[in-house]
Amino acid sequence: MFPKKGRSSLKSRELTAEIIAVGTELLLGAIVNTNAAYLSRKLASIGINVYYQTTVGDNPERIQAAIRLALSRSDIVITSGGLGPTVDDITLPMIAKAIGRPMVFKKCIMDEIKKYFRARGINRITCNVERQAYMPEGAVCFINTVGTAAGVAIHAGKAVIIALPGPPRELEPMFDSTIIPYLRKKGCAGTGVIKTRTIQLTGIFESAVDSRAKDLLELSGSRTVGIYSKPGMVELKITAKAKSAREAEKKIKPVELEIRKRFGDFIFGTDGETLEQVVGRSLAGRGLTIAMAESCTGGLIGHRLTEVSGSSRYFVMGVVSYSNPAKKAILNVKHETLARHGAVSREVAREMALGIRAISGADIGLAVTGIAGPTGGTTKKPVGLVYIALSSKGRTQIRECRFTGDRSSIKWRTSSAALDLIRRSLK
Ligand code: ATP
Ligand code: MG
Repeated sequence: MFPKKGRSSLKSRELTAEIIAVGTELLLGAIVNTNAAYLSRKLASIGINVYYQTTVGDNPERIQAAIRLALSRSDIVITSGGLGPTVDDITLPMIAKAIGRPMVFKKCIMDEIKKYFRARGINRITCNVERQAYMPEGAVCFINTVGTAAGVAIHAGKAVIIALPGPPRELEPMFDSTIIPYLRKKGCAGTGVIKTRTIQLTGIFESAVDSRAKDLLELSGSRTVGIYSKPGMVELKITAKAKSAREAEKKIKPVELEIRKRFGDFIFGTDGETLEQVVGRSLAGRGLTIAMAESCTGGLIGHRLTEVSGSSRYFVMGVVSYSNPAKKAILNVKHETLARHGAVSREVAREMALGIRAISGADIGLAVTGIAGPTGGTTKKPVGLVYIALSSKGRTQIRECRFTGDRSSIKWRTSSAALDLIRRSLK
């Protein structure tokens, strides 16, 4: 059993934040609320707990109600969206109403907006743009370096409201370069940091990870471990709260080592590394080259490998040999093998891998053949049956896999299993 330690050692009261994403498009599912995820991550990194994320449409009463509720339970309220020049952009007047302040014209903001347009060769601006120069009284403004909507901080009682523009390319740099320093200066940043380490595993079911890491998943207090299942992988996320990044790292380390000890080879990466990056690094490090012959994945493995910059050092070529004639003509798969065993078979996978290795001259030939479904399965060869073959000097290994899910998830899982087979073969 991994020992449970006491609760967080942070002594002072921890600040809590609430994020209010404004926009009817979010409620309709037309856009994904990436701003809330971004802000939550950033707030955690400066030791601020996010207790609520709210999404509200462009509706005056509901925006005001959301702001009042957030102010009643959080120290820091951050809104995203609705700062633009159009009639549905009403976040600032609704904040003003919710806290009983008038909207006032800010000449310095108007000058910045004019400057922004002049720099782009526009000297006459439309009058709706002027709306963006009105702010709740007492607002501190933050210049937007990539757009016209200024960011805003308003202190209301003990709380602070931060209003940010909706487009991520405007919100993210503004939050990083001006809001975080502002929160720190005002003593609103947390007294500590929250650090995470993500350990990524593949080739093992979530349930197996869960039962082997049960005691770690039950840790509570200043360090916790969470489990997340993603297509083709499982993640174990260690989170530690401490006064400094160094102390947080000290709390993470023993848990990380324990996870590494328990899961060994199933671990392929850390903190968001992709399988293709790990495989690419191994190939480049060993000076080896690779070529693909793909059937059911339609080029997905080649695509994933070439997503990595510098992949030309090791990726020689890929053939999408979807039909039997292509398997025969390009990869020299024998007619008898196809006739006897069928395209989805151990034997055909082997010949495809040998074939691609021979014609490309690569050190490693990788081949996949399978049934991605939803049609084409039989009792003997069901949907999800996949053969992956890897041929290298003097050795060909073949893996039989049985995946479940829809067509794209079977293709994705196949590509992950193939990349994992390469990774393991390079160990
Ligand atoms: P603009 O000046 O572009 O109108 P704004 O501050 O008024 O900016 P919105 O009108 O609410 O922001 O949203 C503009 C665009 O920003 C949306 O169409 C969407 O692409 C993006 N966006 C808004 N909110 C979010 C969010 N929570 N997560 C991700 N993207 C968002
Ligand atoms: Mg807008």
